[in-house]
Amino acid sequence: MARFTVIGAGLSGPLMACYLAKAGHDVELWEKRPDPRVDSADAGRSINLALSMRGIRALEDVGAGEAVMATVTPMRGRMMHAIDGSTTYQAYGTEAEHVINSVSRLGLNMTLLDLAEKKYGVTVHFDRTCEDVDLETGALTMRNNATGALETVATEHAIACDGVNSAVRRRMQSMPRFDYDQVVLDHGYKELCIPAGADGTHQLRPDCLHIWPRGNFMMIALGNLDGSFTCTLFWPFDGPHSFSAMNDDKDVEAFFKKMFPDAVPLMPDLVKDYRENPTSVLMTIRCKPWHVGDRFALVGDAAHAVVPFYGQGMNCSFEDCRILAEMLEKHGDDIGAAFEAYGKARKPDADALRDLALDNFIEMRDLVASRWFLFKKALGKLAHKLMPKTFIPLYSLVTFSHVPYAEAKARSERQVRNTTVGVWAFVIALVGGLLLWAARR
Ligand SMILES: Cc1cc2nc3c(=O)[nH]c(=O)nc-3n(C[C@H](O)[C@H](O)[C@H](O)COP(=O)(O)OP(=O)(O)OC[C@H]3O[C@@H](n4cnc5c(N)ncnc54)[C@H](O)[C@@H]3O)c2cc1C
Repeated sequence: MARFTVIGAGLSGPLMACYLAKAGHDVELWEKRPDPRVDSADAGRSINLALSMRGIRALEDVGAGEAVMATVTPMRGRMMHAIDGSTTYQAYGTEAEHVINSVSRLGLNMTLLDLAEKKYGVTVHFDRTCEDVDLETGALTMRNNATGALETVATEHAIACDGVNSAVRRRMQSMPRFDYDQVVLDHGYKELCIPAGADGTHQLRPDCLHIWPRGNFMMIALGNLDGSFTCTLFWPFDGPHSFSAMNDDKDVEAFFKKMFPDAVPLMPDLVKDYRENPTSVLMTIRCKPWHVGDRFALVGDAAHAVVPFYGQGMNCSFEDCRILAEMLEKHGDDIGAAFEAYGKARKPDADALRDLALDNFIEMRDLVASRWFLFKKALGKLAHKLMPKTFIPLYSLVTFSHVPYAEAKARSERQVRNTTVGVWAFVIALVGGLLLWAARR
């Protein structure tokens, strides 16, 4: 058995540590923030994520499934809120069990940390920032955030789960053949809140992901167990209608009243939340390779940050952990071969997810409001009913299956092509038949 060091104890880090310890490896986990179970700056804020099948499978593998699923708010479909306050519901899946689950980021993080420490005996070091890494020797330069002192931590095999601004990936960028691209969106996001009603219940239907699609921008809301909703406004940074165009509280109030009139009465702290909550950046990151020999491997956002519009970044990161654990098992002592096989297997899927997530932004903020889009979605569901094995809607392939993302994307493109050809063939045959029938009369 080997000695592994995991850098970053966000979402994928503790899960990866559990997988490794479960396989009998010796694991240490290092995290720059303080222990959220003791001291959490976010404890008062409920930021939530959509957890679906791929993520749940990984959680179940390490024995966290039941504990996490006891805390989720299931969502069966989208509820679109038009500007006149009218709503349209659209189920996510084709089967009754097709639900996605709103889960608290903080709660999930704490459950995984508890599991890593208590069940698997992982040693976790908090308040330690990885400042740099030596790709050849595996040595990490760690800053003790309490004292400011730098220390060197020797590693045999290190897994970077240190997120979108990964220190390990930053160092890998100096490798001569390292391929890297980063795209920062013109849109940013801000989290807001719809608190629970006076009786502690949800003020909107909790079993839906609520969307206020407004063409070039949108707001969404996911329910929490305590009766509140976490809302996220996705909006351009610049331009006449943008974050930068808001000069004061009055502008904010006027904008929300105009664009989200049915949400405003449910948001008593809107202006304060808007003023106090940060405006954050959205970006995608692609890179290659995802490993350095048997020294380092990148997992999760460190390898492939995607925009959040398919609700798959965490699910994909959790799937990374599962695949890497499988490769380590398959390749035994040859850790370098396992790292390489993992990167080769996952890179096409991460690239496909990046494209799908970007496309879904346009779908969510704009297309979901159109009748043509809803009609096409209904057609897709009908096609699935008629040919359940041959036609599976893309959303179901991505969210309710374990089909690799790249295969899901290619399969959906094929299905759309074949269905279009089929519909045209049917129309031509029908028109031809009618003409023949008319000519014979
Ligand atoms: C607005 C938004 C909404 C999202 N919604 C969803 C959703 O609904 N569903 C979904 O599946 N995904 C969603 N995602 C994506 C999801 O948040 C990420 O994909 C996921 O958090 C990636 O996990 P990770 O462990 O790779 O990174 P993180 O969760 O970011 O964890 C990285 C950890 O590393 C630590 N760290 C960073 N640098 C260092 C360092 N130098 N030294 C030590 N520690 C370090 C950080 O403190 C952090 O704890 C969303 C993302 C955003 C921005």
